Amino acid sequence: MKFIADSMLGRLARWLRLLGYDTLYFSRIEDGILVRTAQEEGRTLLTRDTRLVKRRGLKNFLLLDENDTFDQLRTVINTFHLLPGGESGRLKEHSPSRCSLCNTIPVSVPGEDARPHVPDYVYRTSDGFRRCMKCGRFYWRGTHPEKWRKKLSDVLKP
Ligand SMILES: [Zn+2]
Repeated sequence: MKFIADSMLGRLARWLRLLGYDTLYFSRIEDGILVRTAQEEGRTLLTRDTRLVKRRGLKNFLLLDENDTFDQLRTVINTFHLLPGGESGRLKEHSPSRCSLCNTIPVSVPGEDARPHVPDYVYRTSDGFRRCMKCGRFYWRGTHPEKWRKKLSDVLKP
């Protein structure tokens, strides 16, 4: 399952990436390009724009009414029966599956590589470092994944 989010849904896009779902997002993009990219790449368009979904030829989309990011996330998860962890269907025990900023899959790097770039206590207490080779952001097992997992379990609560 792959998505493309309209320009009003940046926060939702970041959460879907953290869940492991390939989600394109551009803060500025023409409607026509948005729709064409969705079609060409087999992505489901997530949008709040009622006019956009009337575009000719657009088949796979979800129109979201909700204002709140987590309400939107809940609707997306329930509509498509998404399982945390992307296609694998399991909530990963370690870092998020995709970079929340640029949708790239981070690669594992040795702790030594992360050392100059992360807070000292993180270097000392964490392992499983990964780095997004596109934007350079580091991910690790620790407080951040912990926080988002907590938030996520709140979202997934029936
Ligand atoms: Zn990145």
